[in-house]
Amino acid sequence: MQKLSPSRPLLDAAAKEGKAIAALNFYNAETLISHLKAANSLNASIILQTTEATISYLGVEMIRGMAQAAAAQCEQPVALHLDHGRSYDIAAKCIDNGYTSVMIDGSKLSFSDNCELTRQVAELAHASGVSVEGELGHVGQNSETPAEDKTQWFTRAEDAQRFVAETNVDALAVAVGTAHGFYRGEVSIDFERLRQIRDAIPSTPLVLHGGSGVSAELLRECIQCGVRKINFGTELKDAFTRAVKSSLCSSDDIDLRRTFQPAISAVEEMSRSKIMICSGNTVERQTSGS
Ligand SMILES: [Zn+2]
Repeated sequence: MQKLSPSRPLLDAAAKEGKAIAALNFYNAETLISHLKAANSLNASIILQTTEATISYLGVEMIRGMAQAAAAQCEQPVALHLDHGRSYDIAAKCIDNGYTSVMIDGSKLSFSDNCELTRQVAELAHASGVSVEGELGHVGQNSETPAEDKTQWFTRAEDAQRFVAETNVDALAVAVGTAHGFYRGEVSIDFERLRQIRDAIPSTPLVLHGGSGVSAELLRECIQCGVRKINFGTELKDAFTRAVKSSLCSSDDIDLRRTFQPAISAVEEMSRSKIMICSGNTVERQTSGS
């Protein structure tokens, strides 16, 4: 029986094994159950994460209760992580309410303001044994960022070195070509830059946002370049929504447990495939046994 773990030990263990941890967003009991089943079927550690929007939807107390119950049923350590916390207050609220890992996203601030905010959150978090992820450079949205402008937001290795030294973060989200949401065309990742960042901060696990829609091959290369946490949200939401639509359109059944069952299975399958990529498993897709 596991208690929720800080994310840093999971990322350090992944680094030793040359792997990454899948960070899976959940939105409700159904998606949480999907991730739990996927992790247990592969005997893997995962990071369960919620955005501020999910906190507004479920509340931190309910999220904590659900995640603690999930961790208790997991074979391997699990962390509960705040994804894209935008303020000191939301990070503090999560730290005080059972999250074991928080991201403070000051990527839209100036370098010095981002440093200061992240340093303050890291100080608070570390006093409670909570891990902290910062973001340097800016990972945008596929829906809003014109491809030709993206590189101006990319993380620079020398900045990463200063940022980590000044903030004491446990993990750093970097902008190297991925983005949030559905990609319109091919994803282009600046691996040379990623290697430079890794070499500048070799003891700091790197985080890749916007993992949905990136091929297994590219994700594996990212892992070889020091990425230890890969975030997946868009494809999970998409799998869930498609399955629910299909359930509702094919039947007048009002039993929600039956309506959601195909969606739980669809997300479980998607989560399994992402966990397998992160753990370097060569078989990318397997039929779920449950
Ligand atoms: Zn993100």
